[in-house]
Amino acid sequence: MKNLVFIEHADGKVKKASLEIISVALEYGDVSAIVVGDVDSATLSQFGASKIINVAQDALEPYSSGAYAKVIVDCVNQESPDLIFFSASRMGMEIAPLVAANLKISMASDCIGFSVDNGTVKIDRPVYSGKSFVSVAYNQMPMIVTIRPNSFEAKENPVSAESVNFAANFEQNDIASRVKEVIASVSERVDLTEANIVVSGGRGVGGPEGFAPIELLADEMSAAVGASRAAVDAGWRDHTDQVGQTGKTVTPQLYIACGISGAIQHLAGMSGTKTIVAINKDPDAPIFKIADYGIVGDLFEVLPILAEEIKKIRS
Ligand SMILES: Cc1cc2nc3c(=O)[nH]c(=O)nc-3n(C[C@H](O)[C@H](O)[C@H](O)COP(=O)(O)OP(=O)(O)OC[C@H]3O[C@@H](n4cnc5c(N)ncnc54)[C@H](O)[C@@H]3O)c2cc1C
Repeated sequence: MKNLVFIEHADGKVKKASLEIISVALEYGDVSAIVVGDVDSATLSQFGASKIINVAQDALEPYSSGAYAKVIVDCVNQESPDLIFFSASRMGMEIAPLVAANLKISMASDCIGFSVDNGTVKIDRPVYSGKSFVSVAYNQMPMIVTIRPNSFEAKENPVSAESVNFAANFEQNDIASRVKEVIASVSERVDLTEANIVVSGGRGVGGPEGFAPIELLADEMSAAVGASRAAVDAGWRDHTDQVGQTGKTVTPQLYIACGISGAIQHLAGMSGTKTIVAINKDPDAPIFKIADYGIVGDLFEVLPILAEEIKKIRS
């Protein structure tokens, strides 16, 4: 089978989620990677992409999902892949449906399970904000699949890769919506959706300054910092930190929820985590129902002790 994988990158560094989808796709055939802009192409071949299709970024500036979708549609028409993979990231969720609609092909979104058996694509995905899971079978190819980040392992599989250029061919007037400005968030921390460890704070932190012990623990663990919507709505954190149904979906190895009650809309964004630790002073807080480890206590007492112990272990 032929697979096409859309690669996301930040400052030329390929995102982990894109390497994960290369690994998924590689199990079912050859992988061609389409990438807009300059990336470290050695990383792509290191993980198994045997063809790298480069699109010059200049032609697609400023970013617009419509322009990206147009280029990918043209590329699909030229390459005729059986499966087209995107990460179920904000960018993937924006572009993939446009490509599917344009090509009039099926799309399976936000997959956490994926296999192909005798030409039938089988996927698992969460529904109802992660309350249930469905398994769906598709009998038509080509089709589009978006894969939830951190659901599969990125495995190295070095191959020699051919590198080709692909010319973007569209008129700006063809694009229905245009992005006027991109304001990058300034943070030294690892991206929330890519992080292996996330420490999050909720209304229980009491105010913006209440995030200080959360930042401290996150520093010790090289973790990203998240927040509940209550903390974001109160203006204590930027909305880019929000985890949940109307925020970001994170699937780290470890999620530490501090002063977060565990509303269904919050769980929707983090219940795919491998290990959940909850710190809450209310023993009946719903978050304890899904936590693997629970600490009943005041976060302002617990977090400094945790940070201190982790510092000892890591030093
Ligand atoms: C359409 C819709 C979409 C939504 N989307 C999202 C979303 O994307 N993300 C999201 O998070 N929410 C979302 N919400 C809001 C959600 O329903 C909850 O209101 C919100 O998650 C509650 O945030 P919280 O847990 O921080 O606050 P609370 O529910 O008020 O919980 C605070 C917790 O902190 C504990 N606490 C207090 N002090 C301490 C202390 N000193 N030490 C330890 N524990 C302490 C309390 O016991 C309590 O359990 C959405 C709601 C709707 C209707």
